[in-house]
Amino acid sequence: MAVHFVPWDTTRDLMKEANRLYDAAGTFDCVEKGDLVAVKLHVGELGNPYYVQPFFIHDIVRRVKEAGGKPFLTDSNTYYHAQRNNAYDHIITAFTNGFNMAPFIVADGLRSENYRTVKTRGILQEIEVSGVIAEADAMVVVSHDKGHALSGFGGAIKHLGMGCTSRAGKLRQHRTIGLEIDTSKCSGCGKCKEACPLDLPEIIEGKARNTSPLCMRCLLCIEACPMDAIKFVDKENLCRALASAAYGVLSTFKKDKVSYVSFAKDITQYCDCVPGPGEIMMNDVGIFASDSPVSIDGAFLKMVDYKLFNDAYDVDCMLQVQEAKALGIQGEVNPEITRIS
Ligand code: SF4
Ligand code: SF4
Repeated sequence: MAVHFVPWDTTRDLMKEANRLYDAAGTFDCVEKGDLVAVKLHVGELGNPYYVQPFFIHDIVRRVKEAGGKPFLTDSNTYYHAQRNNAYDHIITAFTNGFNMAPFIVADGLRSENYRTVKTRGILQEIEVSGVIAEADAMVVVSHDKGHALSGFGGAIKHLGMGCTSRAGKLRQHRTIGLEIDTSKCSGCGKCKEACPLDLPEIIEGKARNTSPLCMRCLLCIEACPMDAIKFVDKENLCRALASAAYGVLSTFKKDKVSYVSFAKDITQYCDCVPGPGEIMMNDVGIFASDSPVSIDGAFLKMVDYKLFNDAYDVDCMLQVQEAKALGIQGEVNPEITRIS
């Protein structure tokens, strides 16, 4: 469960550096001749410039082919109402952002109807794995390390847990978070309701109230509230849910059929899902490769001041890594890192 690493050194040819990294880490050892290989990526939301650059994906596709596999690009639709919440718009976004080097197959179908419900461990009992992911022979998970308002940071574990599950699976994870409205602060202005795609919360006797089981925990009402009256609680549950969902996703693959590459560059406040990802939080770090999501996320957090994430989002971002390890996903929370030089 080693982690290999090359620094983000722009005096060098980073494409070549990445290939040296893949060779050292055995990134494509998971590919056998004839395998249908999912290259799991995030194509970026339109307007967000900080997704993994297409030329790196182009090269990963080339390497999968060289290893005898049949690579395709994939990601699941979003659970919230945005540019990528159906396959048509998702594919348009992928092409617009430059991801046309292999077939782009939306992992969970036209409207997220294609998933397989599997049993898992931890805070969730079961999880809806996107059907295309569940059917793939092998997978290379290409992540962008960055901050995340709900889980502190997003890397490989989040990319598995949230990114490889259908809308129902994403909702199941988000619903582990609580939402509270402080009625002493609430003025009854209704701005939360205006912002909410589901026309929640209700305004009753001049106060907002949200008990709906449909609530997606999507943040929009929180951002809209001028009184700072709405907040999420129990965000740690989402960190546990990400690990739990990741375990379920990995259960659909045979042993040693998933490999991980993470780009710690453009480490923004918010994830690739939003058009405005906020400020850069820390310097570019480099590229990691591993056969373990626990180790690759642990390595990233080991090399940065991860307390910046914890302080910004009031949640311990190490928790998702520790929980994944505790559930039995192989790897080390504090791994050795082999620098390729
Ligand atoms: S979090 Fe807020 S905006 Fe999002 S669905 Fe729930 S009530 Fe609506
Ligand atoms: S936006 Fe805030 S203050 Fe206005 S009704 Fe909603 S919770 Fe109350």
